[in-house]
Amino acid sequence: MYERVMCSNCKESLQNIIDAMYEGYAVHEIICDNNGIPIDYRYIEANLAFEKITGFKRKDIIGKTIKEVSPEIDSFWIDTYGEVALTGKPRNFENYDELLDKYFRVSVFSHKKGIFTTIFTDISENKIIEETLEKHKLLVESAQDAILYVKDNGIIIDANKSAIRFYQYTYEELLNLSIHDIRHPSTRDKFEQQIKQADESGIIFESIHVRKDGSIFPVEVSAKGTIIRNGRVRIHIIRNITERKMTEEKITYLANYDSLTGIPNRAYLMHELDISIERARRGAYKLAVIFFDIDKFKSINDTYGHDAGDKVLKTVAERVQDKIRKVDTLGRLGGDEFIIIQPLIEKDEDVLALINRVFKALDEPIFVESSELKVSISISIGISVYPDDAKDMSTLLSNADHAMYGAKKESGNSYKFP
Ligand code: GH3
Ligand code: MG
Repeated sequence: MYERVMCSNCKESLQNIIDAMYEGYAVHEIICDNNGIPIDYRYIEANLAFEKITGFKRKDIIGKTIKEVSPEIDSFWIDTYGEVALTGKPRNFENYDELLDKYFRVSVFSHKKGIFTTIFTDISENKIIEETLEKHKLLVESAQDAILYVKDNGIIIDANKSAIRFYQYTYEELLNLSIHDIRHPSTRDKFEQQIKQADESGIIFESIHVRKDGSIFPVEVSAKGTIIRNGRVRIHIIRNITERKMTEEKITYLANYDSLTGIPNRAYLMHELDISIERARRGAYKLAVIFFDIDKFKSINDTYGHDAGDKVLKTVAERVQDKIRKVDTLGRLGGDEFIIIQPLIEKDEDVLALINRVFKALDEPIFVESSELKVSISISIGISVYPDDAKDMSTLLSNADHAMYGAKKESGNSYKFP
């Protein structure tokens, strides 16, 4: 058995010191099988910190073996302690105790064969911090978004792998750059405001960034200011939104343009007409709504097929587009109906000049590949002028529509004012 020859005063003061220790302290006796292999150990002594750290009360464990206290004990502890107790070689190590769900730093030594003393501290908190930092590092490194740490003066102080991929600088090159070096100059005027908001509450904004070779790409930046070691640092998470922008552009295009002819569709035309009327009102000039529809278009479909009809619609759009000015807008309302919005200087001259150009452009028969034929077409035109014929959009449109039907009814291949 373990024994100590010591005066009772010395023993008491040593016990006081041991109990005042911040570290856990315990003395044990190793238990071996018949072959001298360590199979268990018994608690002989433990301090107050031992109780705090392990949650075991001394009165419940002293005299007991670890297998009596914790039958599920990992053999690592018995093997490691057994080696120290039998060889006398001290050991220092860190290990996770699954039963207590804690990480320990342990010093174990033996001053008498078979007896060993452990001094240990709970390092779970440090381990959790270490693991969290490790996970954070992994997250930053594996993120698809570029992550930059930027000092208050704009200098980049850290960057992840995606940032290197985005900007095509090396890590070292990035660290010598200012955030302004990777922002497009056109975004400068918004910088101060964005930084202010990043520091106050965090901000997400769209911007344009520049690669090493000068090429640019659209980004969404999430920026947040924080304090690291008494210095202000901003974390910028940067997402390349090239594809999103392309999708947005495509959606906008599909929402506003006719897929067959590529000219503005009804929605775009209505919006444009609304704006054009307002502009004409403010500028005190006139505006013509020129409405036209292909005569007997159905019979082209019926005779030559739908593809031939499509080709006719596309050709009409192309030829008429060629004959209008930049300020005029041609669009397809649907079916074989088209509209030209024409801001005017002089009502009759301007409108007549345009519709003559349109008639002329459509004089030449249209070649239709699918039937190897040239198809002749004619159109009927109705014209309504702001503010002479109407002042609001819907009356202007219905006046032009009625005028077009009037022209069609009379003979087709002609135009009419309301
Ligand atoms: P009208 O002289 O009175 O104008 O008679 P129309 O034969 O031209 O008949 P209407 O203008 O009323 O009809 C237009 C036709 O256009 C009806 C439809 O079958 C056809 N159409 C509508 N959209 C398309 C299209 O995208 N492609 C083709 N090929 N035909 C279309
Ligand atoms: Mg028609």
